[in-house]
Amino acid sequence: MSFLGILYAQKDMSMKKENNPLLEPFDTPYETVPFSRIKPEHFEPAIKEEIRRTQEKIKEIRDNPERPTFENTVAALDYADLRLRRLRQILSNLNSADTNEKLQEAADKSLPLISDFYSGLMQDTALFERIRRVYERKDKLSLTDEQKMLLDKTYKAFIRSGVALPSEKRERLKEINRLLTERSLQFTKNLLHDTNEYYLHIENESDLKGLPERVKRAAAEEASKRGLKGWVFTLHYPSYGPFMKYAKRRDLREKLYRLYGSRAFKGDQYDNSTVVLDEVNLRKEKAGLLGYDTYARYVLEERMAGTPERVMDFLDELYNYAIPHARKEWKRLQTLARKDGIDTLRAWDVAYYSEQLKRRELQLDDEKLKPYFPLDKVLSGLFETARKLYGIRFEPASDIDVYHPDVQAYRVWDKDGSLLAVFYADFFPRPGKRQGAWMTSYNPQYILNGKNIRPHVSIVTNFSKPTADEPSLLNFYEVNTLFHEFGHALHGMMSQVTYPSLSGTNVYWDFVELPSQIMENWTYEPEVLKMISGHYKTGEPVPQEYIDKLKHEKQFLEGLATVRQLGFGYLDMAWHHRYPEGYKNIVQYENDAIAKTRLYPYVNGTLISTGFGHLFSGGYAAGYYSYKWAELLDADAFSIFKKNGIFDPKTAAKFRHLLEQGGTKHPSDLYLEFAGRPPKIDALLERAGFKRTEN
Ligand SMILES: [Zn+2]
Repeated sequence: MSFLGILYAQKDMSMKKENNPLLEPFDTPYETVPFSRIKPEHFEPAIKEEIRRTQEKIKEIRDNPERPTFENTVAALDYADLRLRRLRQILSNLNSADTNEKLQEAADKSLPLISDFYSGLMQDTALFERIRRVYERKDKLSLTDEQKMLLDKTYKAFIRSGVALPSEKRERLKEINRLLTERSLQFTKNLLHDTNEYYLHIENESDLKGLPERVKRAAAEEASKRGLKGWVFTLHYPSYGPFMKYAKRRDLREKLYRLYGSRAFKGDQYDNSTVVLDEVNLRKEKAGLLGYDTYARYVLEERMAGTPERVMDFLDELYNYAIPHARKEWKRLQTLARKDGIDTLRAWDVAYYSEQLKRRELQLDDEKLKPYFPLDKVLSGLFETARKLYGIRFEPASDIDVYHPDVQAYRVWDKDGSLLAVFYADFFPRPGKRQGAWMTSYNPQYILNGKNIRPHVSIVTNFSKPTADEPSLLNFYEVNTLFHEFGHALHGMMSQVTYPSLSGTNVYWDFVELPSQIMENWTYEPEVLKMISGHYKTGEPVPQEYIDKLKHEKQFLEGLATVRQLGFGYLDMAWHHRYPEGYKNIVQYENDAIAKTRLYPYVNGTLISTGFGHLFSGGYAAGYYSYKWAELLDADAFSIFKKNGIFDPKTAAKFRHLLEQGGTKHPSDLYLEFAGRPPKIDALLERAGFKRTEN
């Protein structure tokens, strides 16, 4: 580029800066995001500029000639990247909820810049040296609990990223991290290849026996998309799941099962066996470099569970309660299958006979429930639940800018009349919104210069849109989804901490689902059901007999479901804690790890690990147990509400206090404050039906 070219480019950049709303203070109510003024092309230059500004602030902290203190180093660092974090949140939130090609491009270009910036920051030895000097004097500094936590968290984050290692080891750690990223991408690629490559093609309608019409229709569409006659069932769950559940033809179930179970395990170039072993070995080496004997120990240090031993104890305890029930349930399925001439139940029979049994015993039809749960009714009942618990009030705010006409913004008022939070609700599917439901934040809560900055929190779902003759109607699963995400939102909105990185949902990973899952318990309470249900034609609340069935459904085949989850948990711990002791080959190793949870014969040529994305391309390594762990917490916490009254003001105030403190204390301490004792497993066992019928 010529000199003139550079000048021109710079001028061009500075002109853009002037008109870039992302680089100016937001002059909106509560400094909410001015969505309608933001264009996709604003992000990249804004993020580049904001990285530069943040680097300057960090340089000031690092080069400060004064002796390092908590304030001038640790606290200063936590506030230094506030704006950058905010830009990242806005971009990734929009990219999930309302994306388009241009926005995706902006995300692809800008998000790696941000993660590069943070990787660099964590390797800043001079900055770390200042933090270390504060950390070493921490007992002499008379810090508050929250300050101690921030100091601890900051120091550990640097240590765990390897900054204190000798340079040779540090280089190796960098290399390991690079390889791990590469392997996990390879894992996803291989799995996706096989998921897309293999499918079941059916040409005779008689082979579809048992399948509901909508499942057949989807399969016919899938076939015509591929230019094929008849019906196609793929290995993607929305197609695979219903086939296994409903298809009467056992040989076809077996065929599809074998295709599914052998994904990325066919001995060809897409086989994940070596990828799995590589990842496990690299993780173990990484843990070793950082001074831990196993990867699980490294991960669990920053979890509520704390140690691998504690996790194993928890899995074993639950296993001992669940396994007799699982065996009994298994026999019931077997008895049912025998009527069809099946002597030994195999893996491809489980979903089918579970569904058959469920139909006989429960006769629960989702479609019958839906008319009782119009979204507006559920939402107003949910707000009422929050008011009764915490005294907070939701008021629609048309003056607050939103990113799509379907999004509704609210002011959330606290019981003393002050503003608690801004809340966005985005309920309906559209192109550009990803699947599922989630809570996120556009601004965290924190205190700066004595001012309590209130959070901006959002929930996003994919509920069916109202039509000309029907409002948006939710099935009961969706009612629970709404309560669940709202529980996360409360965690964000209630926050009352000082430092942004400790606020709201910034808690240990196996604790974050307590506030969300506990909310789901209220949906089964008759008092709440009256508030959240009303037939959209008659206004009548949902009949009690349906509710009883729903409660019963919670325990239906729960032994089998629990043991299955425990199997995954054991497999996870085998790879990340026990490994490599006893390792022979991958099939043997996996089978040994889950042997005591297996109720049916192993199917040759299939493997769980090579398709287990949670462990090898997601964030669940040494963390799978947390699904059940969170259930233990929410069941136990709700049992305290049940005992004192589901709207008991004192219990609610205590739970609110737990929410308010975010990540400023260890979750075990927060829980102890709330419950007056550590969590117990009993309520979970009772809810699952394991305690009552135990003999
Ligand atoms: Zn959740």
